[in-house]
Amino acid sequence: MIEWLGIEHLFELSRTEAIWGFFTPLIVYAAFFVVQLMLPGRWVPGYVVNPATGEPRNYRLNGMLVFLIAIVVWALELTGLPHDWFYRSSVYAVAGGTVFSIIFTLIAVFTQPEGKVKNRFLAWWFGRAQEISFFNERIDVKMYMYVVGGTMLSLNALSGAVYHYELFGEKANPGVILYAAFFTFYIMDYMVFERVQLYTYDLIHENVGFKLIWGCLVVYGWLFILPLWGMAAYPNPGFSPAWTNVWLIGASALFLFGWGISRGANLQKYTFKRWPDRKFLGLIAPKYIQAGERRILCSGLWGVARHLNYMGEGFLALSIALIFGCFTNFWAWTYFIFIVSLFVYRQWDDDRHCAEKYGAENWAEYKERVKYRIVPGIY
Ligand code: NDP
Repeated sequence: MIEWLGIEHLFELSRTEAIWGFFTPLIVYAAFFVVQLMLPGRWVPGYVVNPATGEPRNYRLNGMLVFLIAIVVWALELTGLPHDWFYRSSVYAVAGGTVFSIIFTLIAVFTQPEGKVKNRFLAWWFGRAQEISFFNERIDVKMYMYVVGGTMLSLNALSGAVYHYELFGEKANPGVILYAAFFTFYIMDYMVFERVQLYTYDLIHENVGFKLIWGCLVVYGWLFILPLWGMAAYPNPGFSPAWTNVWLIGASALFLFGWGISRGANLQKYTFKRWPDRKFLGLIAPKYIQAGERRILCSGLWGVARHLNYMGEGFLALSIALIFGCFTNFWAWTYFIFIVSLFVYRQWDDDRHCAEKYGAENWAEYKERVKYRIVPGIY
């Protein structure tokens, strides 16, 4: 089975290495916790309201600093681990990360008072508390997990690219190197706009349960590089120079296009939430439906589809599938399939939450005005 899947190279660790691989996530989680706690950070008010004070919660953000330090530590091999370690130990790390996520979830959920959900398994899966923080809010669990997951995604992608290059040398597939560059750019962009994350679904709707903990710490950090499990050990597809240019430039342009839509939509919503009357980029005046004290944005990118940011992310995921140049290889498509499934479900769920929050009539008016869910003219 493993050979048929083409991932036997991920099972080549010695017994001692395999044990180290299993514990790698735990060491990473602990190191990030200490570094994030010790490094200076910028205190900002968030979007979610603290029920105890009635004021927005406070967050201390230092993701960019943590990310840059992690990249330097990895690049200079300051821990003594070789560059390709994260990639070679992926399977064992996913197993270890999953076990530690199960344990963290048990602590995070069952130390909290029982909420509306009485079923203990559902409580464990979805969580009980919406927010958990330590040391006087110096560490917010959700924002901490995002920094760990995002940074590890970039390091895992870079590590896989090094593995590939060491395996194939001059015959390496430039798509694999670009893949690592895409995700490193994607995470750096996330860190630049870390504050915008405070206005998104996970912060607004999710509780701290296994879904979020495992999703951030293992799926985002380690499993988002699933395409590399197959593609890092796969040779260059060997196109002619002309086709190589078409494929690399085309996929990179698609990546930038998708990123631009997604970043633009997220920034427009963020601008609207913070300064409701300000024109986005000084150009697009906000139009909205008043729903009690709330406002539903329906101009600019939010007037084209109700979640155009997901379409942008979909194009970005498509560029990731295409960048390897191995268009019929299933591994190349794994991330794209995951993203499409996630966003179709999430849009549906967010729609339901928003109809409750803004009132069924107002939301119906919004749906009348902005007809499409994700892809204008199609869906
Ligand atoms: P959103 O940032 O779209 O957040 C949804 C919330 O925004 C809603 O619950 C609502 O909350 C508010 N909202 C939605 N529509 C409107 C409107 N018309 N007017 C005013 N407020 C509105 O979703 P996500 O958090 O899911 O996504 C954020 C970004 O992260 C996206 O770009 C997404 O693609 C990306 N992402 C990427 C993932 C990946 O795996 N690569 C995974 C998840 C997200 P309220 O009214 O309370 O403000």
